[in-house]
Amino acid sequence: MPEAAQVRSFIDDAVRWRKTGDEAFLLRLIRSSCSGVPHDVGAAYATLAGRTGDLLDAIDRGRLALPTPERDSALLFVRRARFVRESSAEEDAFRFVVAEAFAVEEFVKEFPQGDKAAVEVELTEPVEPEEAVGVPRWQKHFSASALNAYTECARKWFYRYACAAVEDPGSSASAYGTAFHLALEDFHGDFPRPRGADRLAMRKRVRECVTWAFERNRDGFETRVEFELQVRRAQRTAQRYVDWLLVQELEAPFEVLGREVSAELDLDGRAFVGFIDRLDRDERTGNVGVVDYKTGSIATSAAEYCEKVRRFRDFQLPFYYWARTAAGDRVSRLVLIPLKDALLDVRPVVLEVGKTINLDDLERSREKMIELSTLLASGEIRHFETTKNASACTYCAYQTACANKPPAEAQRFGS
Ligand code: SF4
Repeated sequence: MPEAAQVRSFIDDAVRWRKTGDEAFLLRLIRSSCSGVPHDVGAAYATLAGRTGDLLDAIDRGRLALPTPERDSALLFVRRARFVRESSAEEDAFRFVVAEAFAVEEFVKEFPQGDKAAVEVELTEPVEPEEAVGVPRWQKHFSASALNAYTECARKWFYRYACAAVEDPGSSASAYGTAFHLALEDFHGDFPRPRGADRLAMRKRVRECVTWAFERNRDGFETRVEFELQVRRAQRTAQRYVDWLLVQELEAPFEVLGREVSAELDLDGRAFVGFIDRLDRDERTGNVGVVDYKTGSIATSAAEYCEKVRRFRDFQLPFYYWARTAAGDRVSRLVLIPLKDALLDVRPVVLEVGKTINLDDLERSREKMIELSTLLASGEIRHFETTKNASACTYCAYQTACANKPPAEAQRFGS
């Protein structure tokens, strides 16, 4: 219930908004407890409109997916705001117009009398809910990351792939990953066969590649300080990566066959696509290794990653395995290279096919890819469950819109 002082401040903002047309006052109105809009919804719309402009239009278009009561409250706010904006009342009377339109006049006693007849707000009848139908068939190609998203949280898949509900503006973490991948792609263009004799040249070149790649992705970092810190982090990590290459070259010499290699696979008529960061050939055996760079958090051991594969929580390396096998390669190694922590040595997670990860697990993963892609292409799914694992929500771009997301860990322990 708003206090008199909040109501007066709310009305002051409405007066200024009508007078100046400055959207900042409108954003304050929707965030106010007098707006009739739940605070988190008002704040979310204010944030969205702060980036895109035109709050009322954003609500009209339903830019945030909301439960019906909250959506209706936002639409009512729009009607009220437009109503008061169109009012031609003088300022004193206008204050009364605003108070009555937003049904807060009872909280302020000292209004001058205005023309009450002018403040009737006409509400339309609620529309009948539409009949629930399945999400249209998914007709585009599939990817391992799309299936990973689905198994992590079906609702996230729905938002990202079926609706494209909220544009994900990216983060400095994603810009870091993009820039680092680009740097290593260039670096291995010059050094496809790492050799100890080239140690100094490799160190110099990787430094240049990192500098150039981050410059190209400078816009992905919000501040100059953030940018400089991330470049330093990347430079240190890149030197550790070279250390690891040199050790690797002594243990098992290899040649980089390809960088950002297109991976395509037909699974029971469903097209899967992706890109492999690096493809290596072992110079002693001729076998092929698939290498994936990871700049975020990953499994810390081969056993942990294999368990994720067995539980159908990660399809990426199995997908690469089947794509390159279908292309005629003899794939013997699947490797994740952690490039997140500049303070640690690079210690890859290596899966030796037939040893660390067995073929049955890869085969079951392939069957699951077919099963899930068939389901997503069926057009029969009527409900996309939210995850029960609150940690999956931490960096989810759809948090604001997501009804029924699990409570955060802290809240759960607090209850
Ligand atoms: S906020 Fe959580 S429950 Fe909602 S879509 Fe994202 S991951 Fe799923």
